[in-house]
Amino acid sequence: MTRLAVRSTRLLAVLVALELLAGIGSGLALQSSPKAPAAAAPLRASVPHLDPRVPLVTALLGARADAIARRDRAGWLATVDPTATSFRARQARLFDALQSVPVEGWAYELDPEHTQPANPAVDSRRGDGWWAPRVTLRYRLAGYDALPTAEPQHLTFVSRGDRWYVAADDDFADRTARGLWDEGPVRVVRGRSSLVLGHPSSGALLRTIATAVDAAVPRVSAVWGRQWSQKVVVLVPSTQRELQRLVGGSGDYSRIAAVATAELTGSNPVGDRILVNPPNFRQLGALGRRVVLTHEVTHVATRSATAAGTPTWLVEGFADYVGYLDADVSSRVAAQELRAQVRRGRLPAALPADGDFDGGNPRLAQVYEQAWLAAVLLARRHGAPKLVAFYRAVGSGLSVDGALRSVLGTDLATFTSDWRRDLRTRLA
Ligand SMILES: [Zn+2]
Repeated sequence: MTRLAVRSTRLLAVLVALELLAGIGSGLALQSSPKAPAAAAPLRASVPHLDPRVPLVTALLGARADAIARRDRAGWLATVDPTATSFRARQARLFDALQSVPVEGWAYELDPEHTQPANPAVDSRRGDGWWAPRVTLRYRLAGYDALPTAEPQHLTFVSRGDRWYVAADDDFADRTARGLWDEGPVRVVRGRSSLVLGHPSSGALLRTIATAVDAAVPRVSAVWGRQWSQKVVVLVPSTQRELQRLVGGSGDYSRIAAVATAELTGSNPVGDRILVNPPNFRQLGALGRRVVLTHEVTHVATRSATAAGTPTWLVEGFADYVGYLDADVSSRVAAQELRAQVRRGRLPAALPADGDFDGGNPRLAQVYEQAWLAAVLLARRHGAPKLVAFYRAVGSGLSVDGALRSVLGTDLATFTSDWRRDLRTRLA
């Protein structure tokens, strides 16, 4: 951020956007968020239909779901271990915060075949007889989630007398995914196409974001078409640390203004969310906010046409193409890091590799700019509808070379050399 101080005021709005944009995504936008269910399964501990804990804990989880549906605070707290004082207080705050959130279909799925193995540290906290089978929480944000999002829970269950309770959600290295409602009271702002969830302390920022997302949705549809939900959920944490907890993992968000995430259930992404990084987002001017949010909304729109094999340069380049479209920013300004490199005679040899988009890459800005200008070149040569058709072809499983040939009548080697020549002349 110190670099910004030396730049002229006139350019500040754009430059802040660009610097922060350089970090957007970092793989999160395309791939599952780190909250996606872990592949590694702990030990199998029991034969489910013979295990007397299964019906009891299933009933307990059912009672929790009922309590949410019926807004029954006492019923919710009756499922929590009475001796787990601080967890109980957190569960009470969670319940209270959820009351303003339009959740529906809140349900837990118990998988008794996968449980946490013996753990002396948990023994000492919970006593003998704790049980931690795999549990998945599903819910929809009403009117926004077509399919339920699926969030792994890492709950510890304990028996007290003849009853079972939830005693903790953080006994293990894998911690339960945090929702905004775990972090304090939630305020909900509704736009035409947007549902923005934040905390009361965020004030007018929530409405500002709803308005900006409402404006971004038709811009994205104008390029991508209307074959997507055209509804966007935005989560607005209050601090960067909260953003980090909500996204999970240990990514560096210090240069990121917003990210787009989804949960993976099998191969289906669900629970599309845009998360804003408030300290950085607040620094953006109107143009920067427009570019950032249009970029992220593009990720939401294209998610179902984005495969694991879609190269990141195409995902990020397309999102920037839509983000900057009609924003009246010249490529010399918007790609100034790449321009400086090209003017020093260092033309990239190939389109950026997925690994180049790593958040820790010191040349991340140039990498995003390379991807953006590749998408811009394809759109200029072939038109936006063909760029979209190319994106969809790659998402359906064609290689980049195959899709360039069948959709655009070129090939990867030709396009790469065209793109390098374009960089040289455009950024001269
Ligand atoms: Zn992105």
